Amino acid sequence: MKNFTYIRATSVKDAVQRATTDQNAMLIAGGTNLVDRLKVFLDEPSQLIDISRLEMKRIERTNEGGLSIGALVSNTTVADHEDVRRDYPILSRAILAGASQQIRNMATVGGNLLQRTRCPYYYDTAFPCNKRQPGSGCPAATGINRMHAILGASDQCVAVQPSDMCVPLAALDAVVVVEGTKGKRQIPFTDFHRLPENTPQRDTNLEPGELITSVIVPPVPFAKSGVYLKLRDRTSYAFALVSVAAAVDLASEQIQNVRLAMGGVAHKPWRSKEAEEFLIGKSANTTTFQQAAEIALQEAKPLTHNSFKVDLAKRAIRRALTVSAKGGGVV
Ligand code: SF4
Repeated sequence: MKNFTYIRATSVKDAVQRATTDQNAMLIAGGTNLVDRLKVFLDEPSQLIDISRLEMKRIERTNEGGLSIGALVSNTTVADHEDVRRDYPILSRAILAGASQQIRNMATVGGNLLQRTRCPYYYDTAFPCNKRQPGSGCPAATGINRMHAILGASDQCVAVQPSDMCVPLAALDAVVVVEGTKGKRQIPFTDFHRLPENTPQRDTNLEPGELITSVIVPPVPFAKSGVYLKLRDRTSYAFALVSVAAAVDLASEQIQNVRLAMGGVAHKPWRSKEAEEFLIGKSANTTTFQQAAEIALQEAKPLTHNSFKVDLAKRAIRRALTVSAKGGGVV
């Protein structure tokens, strides 16, 4: 194991400065993914910069009526927060569908966004992996790829982004607030994560040294009827084969507005704007929802072992839209 130094950042600026000066430094907060990676030598930082005691632990109302969620708020705190449960139940349920209570207690909002893929080849250093070592190859493309992508993959990487929380955040048009040496900037949630293309080693559009300070969720009144449906091999402590975040705004059985995003299918949470555009103005019924599901999956390119995901995703979309159109709730 390579020795590293440990330091506690005194402010966001201090953390940014240190992370920018030393490109081999890494930030640590809850550590629920990073410590796993350190244990198997996937990451070998020169220093760990502990940001866990910085002041980014508040959930506050924005002037527009949305929520600003600090990057260091725990996943448990977000899921249990009164305003989140009332106004964004889709977010609360997605968080509770992920990991275990103990992990959710430690895991932070910023860390959830930055967790890396759970592709088994990525974690097993006996195999090559373009995400770990660019140019070495992607054994998952022709190997065991049942859990892998059906949308947006490249010949360089077919991994999926594993977060549950990120799926409703993409559907809700959240914004990621980041801070670097050039100051603060905001990144639309759907632009935060990247598709693999020729740079699978990069999961996000963060610049070196930039740090997530908060996530802003805008007001979405019809999110109260939002639904998060997660389909997985067992009913707890498993990553999604397919998940769907859906929210339907109805007036006299006609769809006024809708949000639709999928997890477990791509290298980023997959928002389906085409399906949303198709649904607006249509009647809320099974035929319409099935047509929307076909549109959402029309670009799907399954791998050797995961063609089942295409039908699974279509059925999940139909079910999530149907339940949301009836007022939402647990599915
Ligand atoms: Fe590595 Fe991506 Fe291929 Fe998995 S899918 S082996 S993470 S390059």
